[in-house]
Amino acid sequence: ADWAAAEALVRAVPPTGRVLLICHVNPDGDALGSMLGFGLGLRQLGVRHLQATFPGPPEVPEPFRGLPGLDLLVPASAADPEPALVICFDAAGESRLGELVGRLSSAGAALVLDHHASNSGFGTVNLVDPAAAATSVVAEQLLSRLGVAPDRAIAECFYVALTTDTGSFRFEATTPAVHQLAARLLATGISPGDISRRVFDTRPFGAVRLFGEVLGRARLEPAEADGRGLVWTFATLDDLARHDQRPYVLEALIDSVRCTAEADVSCVLKQTTPGEWAVSMRSKGAVDVSRVAVALGGGGHRFAAGFTGRGSVEQVVGAIRGELDAALIRPGG
Ligand code: 5GP
Ligand code: MN
Ligand code: MN
Repeated sequence: ADWAAAEALVRAVPPTGRVLLICHVNPDGDALGSMLGFGLGLRQLGVRHLQATFPGPPEVPEPFRGLPGLDLLVPASAADPEPALVICFDAAGESRLGELVGRLSSAGAALVLDHHASNSGFGTVNLVDPAAAATSVVAEQLLSRLGVAPDRAIAECFYVALTTDTGSFRFEATTPAVHQLAARLLATGISPGDISRRVFDTRPFGAVRLFGEVLGRARLEPAEADGRGLVWTFATLDDLARHDQRPYVLEALIDSVRCTAEADVSCVLKQTTPGEWAVSMRSKGAVDVSRVAVALGGGGHRFAAGFTGRGSVEQVVGAIRGELDAALIRPGG
């Protein structure tokens, strides 16, 4: 990763220059947390013309409405002057930037901060560290090089990002360095109990009932000789409407499905429009789900990946099934 070049890009922004911060569609805690935390850091550095935005509906998911730095979020408009610098957070590829993709090429320069191994390197400078547990780890390192130590507000943003992407320090990427970063963030006085309750442990009663219904229709396809059982379920727009719920509540669903002992791979299909599904996949290790996702036009990590599925539920699940063999991680291979 080219830290010196990234640092130089940020330092080259003139006092009157605009900096536009963007992150992936359907933003999660890492996308929003790394973007807003970095934005607050830039503000500390004296960058005055700062705007953060993300593609798709501008509504911030309820779990993230308490994040510091939300005042940086302004929906993009065609009338916005061209920024001197665009910084892109947690997006593995340009397809994750929806209608904002054109902003990368029209800006003076584009800096990409990410941690997806499948990142295509679509910026002028790319800080992509597949070993980083979250994009916020990369963002914090760059801020530190720029001379900014996280204050309480920045720390809260980065802590949300770090806990989101490590499953609250449960996943493989939870290294000693992750806990050391968490310790530095906690030392600013942020409240981990309040943050976790808000971000992970709060959902409307309608969502609880919706989960019941969607989990009730989960299917388990038993393991074959190589031990790769598949569990999957789906949620439609009609499910959301009947329970009066917003799409973001479905993000937590995969965590209930992936518990299935008999399955190595788990999938949740979330209908976005008729005939189109946002697919989340998780693996316990026998299958590299990022290979399945990339084969089907998406991306992600070895244990967590996704793509946009088209067609019926059966067609999308069939497409996944068809890629599992090629994505098996063979010992030594
Ligand atoms: P999730 O299932 O939590 O939405 O996403 C899991 C991982 O897969 C994340 O790292 C996310 O960036 C990636 N991912 C999810 N959906 C897509 C997609 O449609 N395209 C790409 N390139 N990556 C995705
Ligand atoms: Mn993300
Ligand atoms: Mn991430």
